[in-house]
Amino acid sequence: MNPQPKIEIAALRKQFGQLVVLKDINLTVEQGSVVALIGPSGSGKSTLLRCINLLVTPNGGSVRVGGDSFVFGTGAKLPGTRELARFRANTGMVFQHFNLFPHMTALGNVMEGPVTVRGKSKREARELALTLLAKVGLSDKVDEYPSRLSGGQKQRVAIARALAMEPDVMLFDEATSALDPELVGEVLSVMQKLASEGMTMVIVTHEIAFAREVADRVIFMRDGLVIEEGPARQVIDAPREAATQAFLSHFH
Ligand code: ADP
Ligand code: MG
Repeated sequence: MNPQPKIEIAALRKQFGQLVVLKDINLTVEQGSVVALIGPSGSGKSTLLRCINLLVTPNGGSVRVGGDSFVFGTGAKLPGTRELARFRANTGMVFQHFNLFPHMTALGNVMEGPVTVRGKSKREARELALTLLAKVGLSDKVDEYPSRLSGGQKQRVAIARALAMEPDVMLFDEATSALDPELVGEVLSVMQKLASEGMTMVIVTHEIAFAREVADRVIFMRDGLVIEEGPARQVIDAPREAATQAFLSHFH
């Protein structure tokens, strides 16, 4: 029997003022699976990712990650600050622009969450951070400040920092889009390793070959709607919808 999906999004709606950005999104992500969100700029991919960890508050629908679920819309009670913090700590997010703390070393960046949010001792947090920095291949950079790291190294610190919260799911929003081409591979290989270890992941990416290789399912979005979804190779190699075909034709 399949366990319950790790992430379940139903009838999700989000608007900014008059602009409806997510129209009626339904999405399930099985435990240990990788889902890639693809689609043109402005289609709502980042907003959807931010709704999954409630960095953005949906206007309607429901969001469940693991055992925590929230309903949005008229009459629904919004989650409180503590509930939100606990929820977010369980969903690691990696951004295009790293967002590291510039005044902290790589080690400091990774230790920060476990100490301040999880209440770990410094010693325990340090052990965990050293293990995670080794996992992303940065054992020799633990004492460096972000300004002295390459983009690929910064992004790997950001991944280690997210993992330090021991999240149930990891969300990646164009984690390699800001990198010089020669640095993309080192970040993708860390993501691939996480996927192969069974991490549940939702990734927004323009790396179509990577999505084809690593994702279990691919979802193509346009104008706030899911236009097509299916097994990664089917959607990428043989898209059914004209809009998906047109989008993918830019990558050949
Ligand atoms: P994508 O990640 O697919 O490029 P986004 O989710 O970033 O798309 O944006 C979808 C739409 O929502 C765009 O039209 C964008 O301008 C708009 N949008 C995103 N965030 C905000 C915001 N905080 N306020 C107003 N409009 C926003
Ligand atoms: Mg985006």
